[in-house]
Amino acid sequence: MFNQYAYGLGSKKSCIRELFQYGLEQAKKVGRENVFDYSLGNPSIPAPKKVNETAKYILDHEDPLLVHGYSAAPGFEEVREAIAKELTERMGMDIKSSNIFCTCGAAPALITIFKALCVEEGKSKVLGIAPFFPEYRPFSEGAGMKYDYVEADTTSFQINLPALEKKIDADTQCVIINTPNNPSGVVFSRATLEKVADILTRKSKEVGHPIYLVADEPYRELVYGGVEVPWVPSIYKDTIVAYSYSKSLSLPGERIGYICVPDCVTDSKDVMSAVAGAARIIGHVCPPTLLQRVVAQCTHERPDLGAYEENRKILMEGLKKIGYEFAQPDGAFYLFVKAPGGDGVAFSEKCKKYNLLVVPSDDFGVKGYFRLSYCVSKETVVNSMQAFEKAFNE
Ligand code: PLP
Repeated sequence: MFNQYAYGLGSKKSCIRELFQYGLEQAKKVGRENVFDYSLGNPSIPAPKKVNETAKYILDHEDPLLVHGYSAAPGFEEVREAIAKELTERMGMDIKSSNIFCTCGAAPALITIFKALCVEEGKSKVLGIAPFFPEYRPFSEGAGMKYDYVEADTTSFQINLPALEKKIDADTQCVIINTPNNPSGVVFSRATLEKVADILTRKSKEVGHPIYLVADEPYRELVYGGVEVPWVPSIYKDTIVAYSYSKSLSLPGERIGYICVPDCVTDSKDVMSAVAGAARIIGHVCPPTLLQRVVAQCTHERPDLGAYEENRKILMEGLKKIGYEFAQPDGAFYLFVKAPGGDGVAFSEKCKKYNLLVVPSDDFGVKGYFRLSYCVSKETVVNSMQAFEKAFNE
């Protein structure tokens, strides 16, 4: 016998992975250049030069026993200090090394946070905001929490505030937000976040315990046109941040990020202890030593967003001209587009005829849309326009 929940998850391929696989098979038949694969969110710009230089330097010059050895469970003190220093300088909030817990990216950071916040297995609840990253459900349920979500505000793809207010109850331990957003590319405005803070403050009083806000921020540095990505803990004090260098330094395969529990969080030290304990339970400690040391020296590095900006511009202009409608994508590398005909799954199927691979929105908690990950080559974007036009007009 084995765990049926885990079996259910592991035996079912994700729609995104299936599309990607389909693309690889089509490429063998029609040539790679004729497949327009917008399925995966894998960065298409290289890591900043300093990242590789730092890694090489460390490998060539530092004690190999140290470089490949275990670190302390939450990460090296000096690494957490470097991360805390950068946050303090940038966000105008005093962050210390004790507020930082290094992780293998945002995914394990989120599971750890959910596990830490689960008061009663099978009862405590994580509340997402549609459209949301589909993995929030298994992360929550795997941590013993229930997962529910607030329906999307399909006019702006900000947050449906009246629906949020209605959904929160005494079992709601946390609300998870993701800005800049996967899949919509939308950045939540300060005004939206302030209203969320009002609701959570009021509801926390009503239910008699803090309702934490979990800010999932792998796309924090990926914004266009100077749009502000507010530092959420300065707007709502009970905010726990999950950060990742997967997209900001184009290092998804290296698995490095952190959890930040600022001092302003209610019982901050105890919450951090619960985070440390939760990480221990799931065996998620000591993220890669080499990468910890690299990011400590690269906290100020930013990706060259030029290629994403160019793709975004070509896509936005091209799709608009054809007649597609989409949410204002100020960040990340996604476009969330209304499916002509109103059925995202049917439209995604139709697109396959033209070797155009787009992800239907259903798994993101909204029907009738599709997601484009424009972290692809410029040629793919330019050459795909005909396919978009044919699929629209069919
Ligand atoms: N959260 C969101 C919204 C994501 O899009 C992703 C990855 O695509 C993750 C979390 C997980 O990122 P990581 O690679 O840091 O585990």
